[in-house]
Amino acid sequence: MKDSAMTTATETPAAPLQRKPADKVNIVLFSGVTGGTIIGLPTYAYFYDYSLVDWVMFAILYVITGLGITVGYHRLLAHRSFTCPNWVKGVLLIAGGWALQNSGLKWASDHIRHHARCDQEEDPYNAQLGFWHSHCGWLLRSDPHKDPKYATKLKQDPVVMWQHRYYIPIVLSGLALPFVVGFVNEGWIGGLGCFMLAGLGRTFFVLNSTFCINSICHLWGTQPHGQSDSSRDSWWVSLITFGEGYHNYHHMYQSDYRNGSKWYNFDPSKWFIYSLSRLGLASSLRRLS
Ligand SMILES: [Zn+2]
Ligand SMILES: [Zn+2]
Repeated sequence: MKDSAMTTATETPAAPLQRKPADKVNIVLFSGVTGGTIIGLPTYAYFYDYSLVDWVMFAILYVITGLGITVGYHRLLAHRSFTCPNWVKGVLLIAGGWALQNSGLKWASDHIRHHARCDQEEDPYNAQLGFWHSHCGWLLRSDPHKDPKYATKLKQDPVVMWQHRYYIPIVLSGLALPFVVGFVNEGWIGGLGCFMLAGLGRTFFVLNSTFCINSICHLWGTQPHGQSDSSRDSWWVSLITFGEGYHNYHHMYQSDYRNGSKWYNFDPSKWFIYSLSRLGLASSLRRLS
């Protein structure tokens, strides 16, 4: 018998990583998006090929829904790093809802808990449990550490509650939009193709780029701004996440509307927020003085 097996049999083992029961809704959604993308996208391409309209819609919706998450869900709701009129907030939250990452209320309260309890058991994407848990495994397990105190302020915001109430119709409208554009372009087959690429495939890629911040940016990269938690800066993750890869800076100065604090850091989210402010559509931009 090997030493490790002997140890297990004769000593009290260290507490195993807690495996929580699976969350069925998330499993169905995540499997559907992942399976539909990995199998459906190449299958459609084999029989019909994607049109230019499909690719353009993919790019447009990747940007819109990506910024909906980074600017709307993350920097506006979770960190209140700027303020804006309710209608601008509503537009940002519709864009974020189209990314299929739960309502802004749930997303932002989970994220506030991530910052408050980083690397601890209550951290929903705890990177101490490894890459796959922090990337997407956390989604597939029920979470015993949900705490309503992290949603208290969010629940006082009527726009947040409006988006939470109408989350399902918002998601469906985001999936219907590429189908309608494809249908107008090339009929039923065109609708299917645009839905596959700019609906399903785009959702898969935006989901995984967001997941990279919770996994890669807590496991690999530099820590130039502090080592009080596992957050790390990764410039190349910023290229696919609209600037969220400067995650070590963000954890140290979380209410700063910028994640890439230097002017040359690739952070389209900060440029977008700054542009909104120049247009009079955002104000009270918070930054480290
Ligand atoms: Zn983090
Ligand atoms: Zn954050």
